[in-house]
Amino acid sequence: MEFVDLSREIFHRTQTHPSHPPVVMTVWGDHSEKKVAGNTTFTSKALYFSMSDHAGTHVDAPVHFDPRPDALSVEQMPLEKFYTSAICLDLSHVPLKHAITVKEMEAALAASGQEIRKGDTVLIWMATNERLLGKPGYVHDFPGLALESVHWLADRGIGMFGVEAISPAPEGELNFQAHMACAERGITHMECLANLDKLIGRGRFTFIGFPLKIRGGTASPIRAVAMFP
Ligand SMILES: [Zn+2]
Repeated sequence: MEFVDLSREIFHRTQTHPSHPPVVMTVWGDHSEKKVAGNTTFTSKALYFSMSDHAGTHVDAPVHFDPRPDALSVEQMPLEKFYTSAICLDLSHVPLKHAITVKEMEAALAASGQEIRKGDTVLIWMATNERLLGKPGYVHDFPGLALESVHWLADRGIGMFGVEAISPAPEGELNFQAHMACAERGITHMECLANLDKLIGRGRFTFIGFPLKIRGGTASPIRAVAMFP
């Protein structure tokens, strides 16, 4: 069995969506501090951090983008959603800020030699991290899905899709529309994935990426992995 790690590291001041608070991480205590109980001296190290539920590699819960009172929060989402068959499409050739069309999705699917099955997780490699991670443009210049492509994925019965960028669609109106389409179609998406290039040409795999059990969470960090037999 082989695992490909699809999550990014969480660290102090990780680049996050500008509309969410930053990651703040510091040392809470370290081995310089000795604790004595009876005849035993013990030392330990622990970190403190605060962050948005949308920081780092994460999945959006319906309650994030769906204002209806019965929209699920992250701890209410069925665990089956996070352990699925999956494929990854190569759209690494698209320009920055580009909105990927259905025609381009169809071409990428044909090139993958795969099909989309009901319940699949579909990951979309746009070479966003390679081009933008760590640069100011990371939070603005990413490509993403056109609205029609979100509907195209939903029409094929997917459970979730995932991208490397902080948003599933280009910044601004298109991104709002993509989130609203997810609400309308009963699907969701993951953001800030990594290593999607390592899945290209390798066919179908098992996607695993369970969220934390955050009460009322509008999203959750996930440790996303692709599992190959
Ligand atoms: Zn999010």
